[in-house]
Amino acid sequence: MAHSHQVENTSHMQNSSDDVSYLIDPLNDAQRQAVCAPPVNLLVLAGAGSGKTRVLIHRIAWLMQVERVSPHGILAVTFTNKAATEMRARLHNLVGVSGSRMWVGTFHGLAHKLLRIHWQDAGLLEGFQILDSDDQLRLLRNVMKELNLDEKQWPPKQAQWQINQYKDEGWRVQDIAVNNDRYTQVMCDIYLNYQARCEKSGLLDFAELLLRSFELLRDKPPILTHYRQRFAHILVDEFQDTNSIQYQWLRLLAGDRARCFAVGDDDQAIYGWRGAKVTNLHNFQQDFQDTQLLRLEQNYRSTATILEAANALIQNNSGRLGKHLWTTGNEGTPIGLYTAYNEYDEARFVVERIQGWAADGGHYRECAVLYRSNAQSRVLESELVQAKIPYRVYGGLRFFERQEIKDALGYLRLLANNNDDSAFERVINTPTRGIGDRSVESVREVARRGGLSLWQAASRVIVAGDMSSRAANALRRFLELILQLRQQTAQLPLHELTEHVLEHSGLRAFYKQKKGEREQMRVENLEELISATKQYQDDSFLLDGMTPLQAFLSNTALDTGEESKEISEQCVQLMTLHSAKGLEFPLVFLCGLEEKLFPHQMALQDNNGLEEERRLCYVGITRAMRQLYLTHAEVRRLHGTENYTRSSRFIQEIPAELIEPIRLRSVAVSQPVFTPPPIATSAPSAASNTFILGERVLHPKFGEGIVLAQEGQGAAQRIQVNFKGLGTKWLVLTYANLQKCENSDK
Ligand code: ATP
Ligand code: MG
Repeated sequence: MAHSHQVENTSHMQNSSDDVSYLIDPLNDAQRQAVCAPPVNLLVLAGAGSGKTRVLIHRIAWLMQVERVSPHGILAVTFTNKAATEMRARLHNLVGVSGSRMWVGTFHGLAHKLLRIHWQDAGLLEGFQILDSDDQLRLLRNVMKELNLDEKQWPPKQAQWQINQYKDEGWRVQDIAVNNDRYTQVMCDIYLNYQARCEKSGLLDFAELLLRSFELLRDKPPILTHYRQRFAHILVDEFQDTNSIQYQWLRLLAGDRARCFAVGDDDQAIYGWRGAKVTNLHNFQQDFQDTQLLRLEQNYRSTATILEAANALIQNNSGRLGKHLWTTGNEGTPIGLYTAYNEYDEARFVVERIQGWAADGGHYRECAVLYRSNAQSRVLESELVQAKIPYRVYGGLRFFERQEIKDALGYLRLLANNNDDSAFERVINTPTRGIGDRSVESVREVARRGGLSLWQAASRVIVAGDMSSRAANALRRFLELILQLRQQTAQLPLHELTEHVLEHSGLRAFYKQKKGEREQMRVENLEELISATKQYQDDSFLLDGMTPLQAFLSNTALDTGEESKEISEQCVQLMTLHSAKGLEFPLVFLCGLEEKLFPHQMALQDNNGLEEERRLCYVGITRAMRQLYLTHAEVRRLHGTENYTRSSRFIQEIPAELIEPIRLRSVAVSQPVFTPPPIATSAPSAASNTFILGERVLHPKFGEGIVLAQEGQGAAQRIQVNFKGLGTKWLVLTYANLQKCENSDK
């Protein structure tokens, strides 16, 4: 074996149980070099599908098996919870250790863990809770109202983005240079007040998790020393997408002692809009002593065709570190390109190909449908539902973001921490219990003046007696309810606690008495919540030193909609391109390849934006293992308006010889593709449909053509015709003056 001497040279090779060939046999030379490197700082820079993640996992196993590093001394950062779970499972298979002693997680997850352990040193309340971005926006809106800022002039979303950005840079208000600039001044005001509210209520937004844990390490030398001694090895996947605060956090934690092993691909940097800095790739080589740089160039994931398309596309970007990916794999089938006449047609095409895949013995879980914008999933979903194909959407409205679930979590959060203002606001009058807006407003007022939490203020208002006795009684009953619930459930396992709270808060009854399918769903979701709590009872891995309630609440906020393997096992996977990072699927659809949608309109203003979109497209293409389809629609209704589109420049950037246009509609005569969208009536109206798909027609100006599609009704009825030498055009039927060709061969 080519690598045998490398193995035998290792001083730890003592007996046959130390045989590590299973760790290094499935690697190529360059990969093996990375996995078996001596303990140095190492940066693996390599393209998609070249085995970076595989190398990272094998490196951890190698460190434990050969270098005899305790799992206790290893910290690994991955990009998603799903990747972290997978990493633990694979390590378990490889070396048999349970992942629970090792710190493996996302930056946010690990930061959170640190803060739970050291909440006092971090200056936090013990039962602190995480604000998801929805909650954050709501809280900001309140703060801005108090500051009398006009929402039109100062959109809360903008403030949210700005404050998160400050935090991602590692800045507190005092670090920001205002320079008489009104915008910055206002943002700082909001930041200051918002932060005070969060502190008082024990709430942390996502960006705060990172910044706060960074400050903890920076400002508490004994804690930093402890972790520096502990973590001898730090490994980071998807390194190209770390932002400033994440990088500083790593740098601080590593100090001069830990060895860092980072893998990344500059061509897959897709989080610039959220503050990620590709320059960290360069910084790494300077900041971490004697960094070795390794490159991997063989791709193991995709066919040569798919790879060639990806290489050609990304060449249009400037300032790349540059690399050439190759494969020994076969050429594979051409990339299918489907031009749909609208988004329903696009969705039907996708569904049809998935059905074909399944009919050929493929599995649904092998199929991924990727899109640029979340809003695109709705039509795809409706067609999948009609075709009775199981699917799962990642990153849409997550289970834990649904109204009824947030209500229920509100109660649980208030039980865990009375001072959680955001939970207090959420449930004080849900279900309705006669506490009017005026009462709530006066509670807010007292809280504001006294620097109190809403809970504290409410208690004070009741005692002060300057509220009508009816209002005061209602308020008192609410506080008592929460206290009672806490008392009654103190000894209960989490799922019984949840059950008890749903029942006695009146929340379940509140949703039950509402009529309608949607409300029924909500009741079902509440039951689902109870089952979700069950696993928190005695799974020590999930608990991580917290009470089951704390652990559960934290995970609901950090959950990114990734579900356990078993659930997604049989489903087609729908997700945005951003969430597809790091994953791979035998069959991939990239939908909506249209200018302004992908590349996204917002990114078209500058070249950086466009290049990031192109990298996103590169990420999309390189998810595909065996078959890739690109689709675009000529007309698309998105966010309520219907638009004629232009196909994405990214399609043109892929060499034509790799692409095979698919013309379903020219064979439409035998199997009509056109069926009206579900919203339209399905019975063809008498006036419509005077032409048949595939029929030859004559236009006074454009000449002869073939009918490809029709849609719409009455005056809005449109027809798509492929004219000889001119290509396809959509025409409004009433004005088109089309005539049937003589001796039409339909
Ligand atoms: P991405 O940039 O998309 O994150 P990556 O560089 O992390 O990709 P991996 O996901 O680790 O790549 O590997 C891609 C695929 O190739 C996986 O299915 C992996 O198991 C396989 N693979 C990697 N290295 C080898 C190898 N030496 N032999 C066979 N298969 C390999
Ligand atoms: Mg990877």
